Amino acid sequence: MLGFHIRPDKPEAFNILSRNSVRFFPAIIDELHDATGRRTAYHHGGQLSVAPDEADLAELETAYEINAAQGVPVERPTPDECLLLAPGLNPKVQDALFWPENAWVDNTALTLAFVEAAEKAGASFERGNVRSVESDSGRVTGVLVNGELRPAGWVVLAAGCWSGEIGGLPPLAVEPVRGQAYLVSGQPIKRIVMSPRGYLVPKGDDQTMIGATVEWAGFEEATTLGGLAELANVGLEISPTLAGSEFIGAWAGLRPATADDLPFIGPFGQFPNLIAATGHFRNGILFAPITAELVRATILGENPGLNLQPYSPDRAVSRV
Ligand SMILES: Cc1cc2nc3c(=O)[nH]c(=O)nc-3n(C[C@H](O)[C@H](O)[C@H](O)COP(=O)(O)OP(=O)(O)OC[C@H]3O[C@@H](n4cnc5c(N)ncnc54)[C@H](O)[C@@H]3O)c2cc1C
Repeated sequence: MLGFHIRPDKPEAFNILSRNSVRFFPAIIDELHDATGRRTAYHHGGQLSVAPDEADLAELETAYEINAAQGVPVERPTPDECLLLAPGLNPKVQDALFWPENAWVDNTALTLAFVEAAEKAGASFERGNVRSVESDSGRVTGVLVNGELRPAGWVVLAAGCWSGEIGGLPPLAVEPVRGQAYLVSGQPIKRIVMSPRGYLVPKGDDQTMIGATVEWAGFEEATTLGGLAELANVGLEISPTLAGSEFIGAWAGLRPATADDLPFIGPFGQFPNLIAATGHFRNGILFAPITAELVRATILGENPGLNLQPYSPDRAVSRV
């Protein structure tokens, strides 16, 4: 899911990244199409945020007030309008907001398109397990991968929740947070719908993804019965018609979390040619374009256009 709205529960530097990243996507999709001949699925159908319970109303109200006051496109549909926007929506939903500019992208197709476009532009990719980053006199000199030292003028640390596990690095507090998601048959709602407990995303022509758990379960990537139960409730709360859906599949991933909800982007003070690009937690797809742009500008010595200080890998992090 891709979208920008001001999140009052997040630091201002988080909202700055969202705002600056989301606007890259339409041009990226076009550029990757030109480079590869294939168009990555990108749906610009807006997103509903719903309050299934009375207890959820205050959160929605605050989100509306803050975003409307700052000119972020947001609508407040009536119950009848909600059912027009999302015919399969639970009629018991108390209130909803509609974000007309929010979108979703096929992230697997997007990644593969980036790989192909990069290869066509001269990049090469090699699979391997980086054991450590090597350094000398205050600069990194390369990485130890598959038992071999690979010299490098610049190293970008983008190892997700495993970023703190690589040898030779300054300490970096990134922790794994598991997310499970489920795919079921049927598509009672053709748009993204979010509730405070999870979301539905239409997949293909006739499937729905139900996401996602947020679990501190270490590096354990299994899907679980507890996750299935939680997500079944999320799905049925948003759209009771999913009760007749068939279970198609499940998967889990480990999100890289930081204690202050901000990613680590930028050079390490100890090694100016080692750049962090990690800790994006629940927003690594949304934040990918701005992260790439900030890394590019840093390597080329250009003005990154944003103050990198809040994202510095050298900052002391604590929970907000
Ligand atoms: C269920 C679920 C739903 C999500 N939905 C969204 C969404 O809607 N929108 C959004 O923006 N984000 C979403 N996210 C979050 C997003 O997937 C993450 O933020 C993103 O994947 C982080 O990207 P990354 O490249 O930093 O880390 P990863 O995707 O974890 O990639 C890190 C890579 O580094 C490799 N690696 C690790 N250690 C080493 C090593 N020593 N040597 C070599 N390679 C190594 C790993 O194998 C992995 O391939 C979701 C996540 C989950 C789990």
